[in-house]
Amino acid sequence: MRNGGRLRAGRDDRLCLGCGSSLPPPFLDLGSTPLANAYLRPERAKLPEETFPLAVAYCANCHLVQLADRVLPDRMFGEYLYFSSYSDSFLNHACRMVNEMIQRFGLDGTSRVLEIASNDGYLLQYFLRRGVRVLGVEPARNIAAEATRNGIPTLTCFFGPEAVSEIQARFGFADLIIGNNVLAHVPTVNDFLSAAAACLKPDGAAVFEFPYVKELLDKSEFDTIYHEHVFYYSLSAVEILARRTGLEVFDVERQPIHGGSLRVFLQRPGRRPSAVRVETMLRQERDEGLTDAEHFVSFGLQVEALKRQLVSMLQQLKFSGNRLAAYGAPAKGNTLLNYCCIGSELLEFTVDRSPHKQGMLLPGSHLPILPPEELTARRPDYALILPWNIAGEIVDQQLEYLRAGGRFIVPIPEPRILEHGA
Ligand SMILES: [Zn+2]
Repeated sequence: MRNGGRLRAGRDDRLCLGCGSSLPPPFLDLGSTPLANAYLRPERAKLPEETFPLAVAYCANCHLVQLADRVLPDRMFGEYLYFSSYSDSFLNHACRMVNEMIQRFGLDGTSRVLEIASNDGYLLQYFLRRGVRVLGVEPARNIAAEATRNGIPTLTCFFGPEAVSEIQARFGFADLIIGNNVLAHVPTVNDFLSAAAACLKPDGAAVFEFPYVKELLDKSEFDTIYHEHVFYYSLSAVEILARRTGLEVFDVERQPIHGGSLRVFLQRPGRRPSAVRVETMLRQERDEGLTDAEHFVSFGLQVEALKRQLVSMLQQLKFSGNRLAAYGAPAKGNTLLNYCCIGSELLEFTVDRSPHKQGMLLPGSHLPILPPEELTARRPDYALILPWNIAGEIVDQQLEYLRAGGRFIVPIPEPRILEHGA
């Protein structure tokens, strides 16, 4: 039972965080790893790192894919190194989303937009420029402070039932609530959505984006699994969840961001007609196995095969005398490296554009994070791209490295090599 997780005390009596029914054993076990955002200062390299089990289970009753073990959120979000504004593609996505929302919901100077997990104000800044009133809610103190410095009104707290009265008093009810990449992070998701419903005007809409579990399965994106991501949603799961919390799905769109996301539109029941594509996607999900436990079990086996393939590729390159490094220091990279047990014996370092990460070490693998210029300066033969979802952007920025003979490895959906002119 090396992979079944039954040996771990207490897991058998885990209950689904959505519907409360008993959870089956995990379909994928990524081992016990440090938190994916627990970047280390070099002086702490010799100290023991705290690790937590990382395994995913599927609830056949409400279709929610979720972590089998959970870490308390305040362990994870007190200080957070992910500043949204450091990724160009993320900013472009936010700007486009704002334009679409303003047009679709007819927002103007009288409208109010509330963003949950507003980060450094990367998205709300575009609403502000269009004269729309905004409030951000952001639990990470350092990031909320940066947003406030940038002129984005921000409450520093977790969004949930206890935040509702302060939001209503300070801001009123919202025409639009946006929550990008937050729904997956909140273990008490029933309370969270009920609180969102409580902050909405009667005709208001709540729009959430999150990585789509179908993409995770179809493209082997197992590295989007980490302790901060409690849930991996299908529309089938969100539809049940919304109904439970007094909301309904009235539209859904697929978005290319983060390796493939869903954007769902929620409202109080019956306020607008439901788009036909909601029913279409629910039917497709049933047809494709997203509501079938066996489908998830075969995914677990597929991930184990990918791990063997990537490690063997890197080992062969290294043993043939190549120097290897990594590019990027995203949380997902830590899942990938730690699950595959790839560390400094294979990769020399990684580089990242965020000055907040430079000088730190990746959790678990302890690769040092250097500025991007070091890639051309130190010129490893191969660099493993950890944020593979923006591989195109990275290649464009690193033409000098490629022209000098450097090559990139994209690990997912299956390991492949990119070189200049290829
Ligand atoms: Zn359930």
